[in-house]
Amino acid sequence: ADMDDVTMDHLDDDPAPVPAPVALTGPYASEIFSNLKRVFRLDSFRRNQFEAIDATMAGRDVFVLMPTGGGKSLCYQLPAVCRGGKTKGVTVVVSPLLALMHDQVNRLLEKDIDAVLLTSSTAEEESRNITARMYGNSKPTLLYITPERLKISSNLKNMLANLYRRRELARFVIDEAHCIATWGQDFREAYQDLHTLRDDFPDVPIMALTATADQKTMDDILGRLKLRNPAIFKQSFNRPNLNYRVVPKGSVDEMVSFIKGTHQDKTGVIYRTGRDNCEKLAKKLREKGLNAKHFHAKMDNVDKETALAQWQSGECHIMVATIAFGMGIDKADVRFVIHYDLPKTMSGYYQETGRAGRDDLPADCVLYYSYKDLRPILSMIRDPKDPNTTRESIERQEQAVRAVVQYCENESVCRRIQILQHFGEKFDKKDCHGLCNNCANEGLFVTQDVTKEAKSVLALVQSLERGRENVTLDHCRNIYKGANTAQVRDKGHNNHPAYGAGKDLSKELVELLFNRLLYLDVLVERSIQTNSKWHQQYLKLGPCADDFLTGNKPLQLSHRPKTPKPGKAKPIKRRVAAANAQEQERAQPLYDDDPMDEIEWSPQKPV
Ligand code: ADP
Ligand code: MG
Ligand code: ZN
Repeated sequence: ADMDDVTMDHLDDDPAPVPAPVALTGPYASEIFSNLKRVFRLDSFRRNQFEAIDATMAGRDVFVLMPTGGGKSLCYQLPAVCRGGKTKGVTVVVSPLLALMHDQVNRLLEKDIDAVLLTSSTAEEESRNITARMYGNSKPTLLYITPERLKISSNLKNMLANLYRRRELARFVIDEAHCIATWGQDFREAYQDLHTLRDDFPDVPIMALTATADQKTMDDILGRLKLRNPAIFKQSFNRPNLNYRVVPKGSVDEMVSFIKGTHQDKTGVIYRTGRDNCEKLAKKLREKGLNAKHFHAKMDNVDKETALAQWQSGECHIMVATIAFGMGIDKADVRFVIHYDLPKTMSGYYQETGRAGRDDLPADCVLYYSYKDLRPILSMIRDPKDPNTTRESIERQEQAVRAVVQYCENESVCRRIQILQHFGEKFDKKDCHGLCNNCANEGLFVTQDVTKEAKSVLALVQSLERGRENVTLDHCRNIYKGANTAQVRDKGHNNHPAYGAGKDLSKELVELLFNRLLYLDVLVERSIQTNSKWHQQYLKLGPCADDFLTGNKPLQLSHRPKTPKPGKAKPIKRRVAAANAQEQERAQPLYDDDPMDEIEWSPQKPV
């Protein structure tokens, strides 16, 4: 508090240095801290920011690995405005995305920081103007360039060479440095050429930043940029205070009772796809007594700003939003992030859930999962609005969403392990502390070999296909389970040899089995026109059906056996029940009627 008082005094008119907190030491600490307060109007550093800034000011090469939203920009923007560092002059930032660069430059200009942007699309006059400044006496503080411009423009190269000769190049910054890795999604041809920076400007320190955490990419970046004894700042992408859960998507009421039961009057976000969905759900939540609003890209700017401001101030508790709700959102006390529809990528999911619990207090991330949600997303991907979408891009998007399905259906591996693996980070399950529903449920799962069952499902689909019968997924599951529905009787499928082949399996297991076969492309749902207007999805053998029909591929499913109904229950072993009770306390059952409340099946768990 004392500190704040002192600095507040200085903020208004006194340009004297602001003393840095005792924890921040070193020759540059006071200048760094002063600028944090005065120029960037921030109170404190996030993890590794000060250390990275200190290292680059000392003239070292620096590598920063930080999750998206972690605050990488400050690591190079702040030292750029400092004068006390070992190297002086212009900070040159190489960045791949034009939109982001424009955005950053604008934000810097708002802070009265002299930043300019040179890209292949910079207008001739503007370009000349910047060049003139670079050769003259009013050099900008930061120069943003695209790697392409650096590669092709001899003007730019001459300009940099000139700065270098005059010792006016403070540092090179390579943002999104993973773009250098040839195997990555974001690979950029021109990033390859950045290795010349070290050869052409041997004395200029380089800072590379990325949010891609695998070792291979990191080694590649360090090697290609020829970083010399770099100061490396890595941090885990794990968010220890977030509780990750995937639960079956049920009615809205279930979600409402979860919110009311656990997060009454607290701030949260519910992500949905589609603006109509957002509006409808927000309305429904209001009808059920929750303080909710909607937010999506199609709203006009005033409405967006109003909604955002109300949510930010706590006047509105719950924002039902598309993923358009993200950029620039920085509310510390978000207690829950719910995904009511399937996210499209794991990294998107990570980022969206990452908006919860920025204050490091416990927060819930709940994904309501239904395999059915995959279908509309796949249709959207396969029928892109943009006619220039390449097949590779479609396939990549499909793979990405399938990875999300896999995450949802994998109920045995710690969710943190699954999430972090998408960033190449290895995670030790013991550090999850039961804060994901897979760790919390550990021991309640069995792995079952269902090769035989898979074969009999395929034989069923094959025989229907041979009889030229079109059946839906639901219908086929009903035949397999031996359900006595009107539709099954009408079509005479109760006389089919495979009728009831899966009658001994639980409903959940049958569902899981069909879903997995769909997931593996062993079965597919094909859209067939039924009359002039309607298409219907019918279940057919998929491209990988032979793996099981003739190839003897084994199939195992990990699932939680159905809880016996009360009354029929076998006696509970006391010690196990006690262990489960502890487990449950940590798991915090979602609903009053959560099956976790009546666990009777005893796991083979060390007690
Ligand atoms: P990254 O590039 O790592 O994805 P950004 O540099 O864009 O992240 O920063 C994300 C957000 O965090 C921005 O809104 C930024 O203003 C904010 N931020 C960065 N550092 C701090 C800090 N020390 N204190 C508060 N907010 C910060
Ligand atoms: Mg960034
Ligand atoms: Zn876990």
